[in-house]
Amino acid sequence: MNDRVVIITGGSRGIGRATALGCAKRGFKVVVGYASNAAAADEVVAEIAASNGKAIAVKCDVGSEADILALFAAADAFGPLGALVNNAGIVGPTARVDEMSAERIQRMMAVNVTGSILCAREAVKRMSTRHGGKGGVIVNLSSVAAKLGSPNTYVDYAASKGAVDSFTVGLGHEVAGEGIRVAAIRPGLIDTEIHASGGDPERAHRLSVNVPMKRVGRAEEIANAVVWLLSDEASYVTSAIIDVSGGR
Ligand code: NAP
Repeated sequence: MNDRVVIITGGSRGIGRATALGCAKRGFKVVVGYASNAAAADEVVAEIAASNGKAIAVKCDVGSEADILALFAAADAFGPLGALVNNAGIVGPTARVDEMSAERIQRMMAVNVTGSILCAREAVKRMSTRHGGKGGVIVNLSSVAAKLGSPNTYVDYAASKGAVDSFTVGLGHEVAGEGIRVAAIRPGLIDTEIHASGGDPERAHRLSVNVPMKRVGRAEEIANAVVWLLSDEASYVTSAIIDVSGGR
C-alpha cells in the first residue's frame, strides 16, 4: 500500500479524472483539483471512496498562485506528497493568431504554463531531498500540438505546450540528483470535453481519420501512461516526453 499523496490538477473530468481513478487503484491518496465543477470532483472522490481508496477534492484555479498555495496546504494536511500531475489545461476557441486578444493569450499561458511551473515549484519544495523530502515524480500533460503547432486552430495553445515540453526537460535535469523524476505525456486526439470547451465538440472525432490508428484515444489510455510514469516501473525515466497519440 502506497500511503503517499498525489495531486492531480484538473482531476474532475477527462484525463485528470481517469488518472485520479488509476492512481487510487495503485494506492495513492488522491487530491482531486478542480476549477469550478465541484459536483464532478466530488463524484470522483466518491468513486474512489467506494473502492476503499482515499481522496479529497480541492478547488484550485491554477491561474491563481493563491489557489495553488491553498491546494498544496490541503495536500500537506492529507499526507506526505509523493507525486504531482500537472493536468489542468485549457484551449481557446478556434482562431488565427491575427484574431487573438492579449487577454486570451495571457490566460492560456497563465493556466497551461505558469500554473504548471508554480505547482512544480511547490512539489519540489516538498519532495526534493535537497529540502529534506523523500523524492517523487512530476508528470506534465503536454500535447502533440507542441509538435504540430495547431495552425488555424489555436497556435497559442500549441506554444503553451511547447513551453511545457521545455520545462519538463529542464526541471528533470535540475532535480535528477534530488530523487525527483519529471516527465511529460503528449496526448493526441482524446475523447474528452476539452474540445467542446473550445467550441468544437466534434473536433477529435472529425480529425481522427488523420490519425494513423484511425481513432480517437480514451482518457484511460493517457491515464495508464501517467500511472506508469508515477510508478517504480519507470524508475530510470526522467526529462522524457512520451507521445500517446495513436501515431499522430
Ligand atoms: P477537460 O476534459 O477539459 O478537463 C479539464 C480539467 O481541468 C477539468 O477537471 C477542469 O476542472 C480543469 N480545469 C480547467 N481549467 C482549469 C484551471 N484554470 N485550473 C485548474 N483546473 C482547471 O480536459 P482534458 O481533455 O482531460 O485535458 C487534460 C490535459 O490534457 C490538458 O492539459 C490538455 O491540454 C491535455 N491534452 C488533452 C488532449 C485531448 O484531446 N483531450 C490532447 C492533448 C493534450 P472543472 O471540471 O472544474 O472545469
